[in-house]
Amino acid sequence: MDNRKLINEAKSSALAGKMLDRESIIALLSIDPETEDGELLGQAAREVASVVCKDRAYLWAAIGLDYRACPMDCGFCSLGESWGFVQDEVEYSEEEIMTRVKKFVDDRVRWIVLRTTQFYDLNKLIALGRKIKSTVAGDYELGVNVGEFDEEIAHRMVEAGFEFVYHSVRLREGTDTKFDPDERKATMNAVKNSPLKLVSLVEPIGVEHNGQEIADTFLTAMKYNAVVTGGMERVPVKGTPLGDFPAISEKRLAQIVAVTRLAAGFHAPDICVHRGSELAMKWGANVTVVETGAIPRDSCCSSQKEWNGFDASKATEWFQRQGYQVCIRDED
Ligand code: SF4
Repeated sequence: MDNRKLINEAKSSALAGKMLDRESIIALLSIDPETEDGELLGQAAREVASVVCKDRAYLWAAIGLDYRACPMDCGFCSLGESWGFVQDEVEYSEEEIMTRVKKFVDDRVRWIVLRTTQFYDLNKLIALGRKIKSTVAGDYELGVNVGEFDEEIAHRMVEAGFEFVYHSVRLREGTDTKFDPDERKATMNAVKNSPLKLVSLVEPIGVEHNGQEIADTFLTAMKYNAVVTGGMERVPVKGTPLGDFPAISEKRLAQIVAVTRLAAGFHAPDICVHRGSELAMKWGANVTVVETGAIPRDSCCSSQKEWNGFDASKATEWFQRQGYQVCIRDED
């Protein structure tokens, strides 16, 4: 089908409340983002964002709690034990975590996620969440990005005050990672069967991934009822197995985000881009990520300030320039 017809049909489908089929997603992903058709795809996604999220943008903040060598050795992650970057392990104290949470609440971040390596003690994490929610006042939602867990743990998370979970079956899960994809799906299913909301991006996207793989990862997120999806690039960390494969271009990242916007429509009304990209916002992303603490995409250390200098004020400025209002909840 002609690209322009394909884009128009995708836009109409999103506005009609439908989700795109796999074949259309793959066709949209094959449009060259450097061309005029690529620009039209981005514009269509931005128009859909205006209707679906009403030009409301939200900030997401991740706090990496533990800078620790992780035995899972994912091929893209600087914290993998075998890559040897982590020498002096650090785990943030409760006081430091509270300070960071308060700062993000002051920065008008809507979603604050506590991120850990795979085997962080979930009992400890649940106790920490309970303390944060009872100590730090504000209009924010607290979530986790942790290892695998079952429904019993999911319900204990809810009871402690957590509202959402970030989890995904990553691109080439089981090939570039040691996980069985079914283990990851089981955790997503536990979230689906609980009151927790699921956030799940297509990640970590590199030049090695084709449209079929990207479409399938997106469709897995939607199958488990992700309310926020989008795209996250793989940041090449030299010394990890995937470190020599280059990053995707900003236009390719923005295009993938635009396709998730058109494909998800009202089913996942909030579409996230990571790392932050003003072009992706122009092409339909209304969520982006700032992060501190242990960073799985950096070989040097754990970060005291926002990673890469990308903070809430810069994200807000970019969103505003692209016609969004940065908010802390769905409706004021
Ligand atoms: S991505 Fe997560 S599970 Fe994989 S090595 Fe890094 S911390 Fe461990």
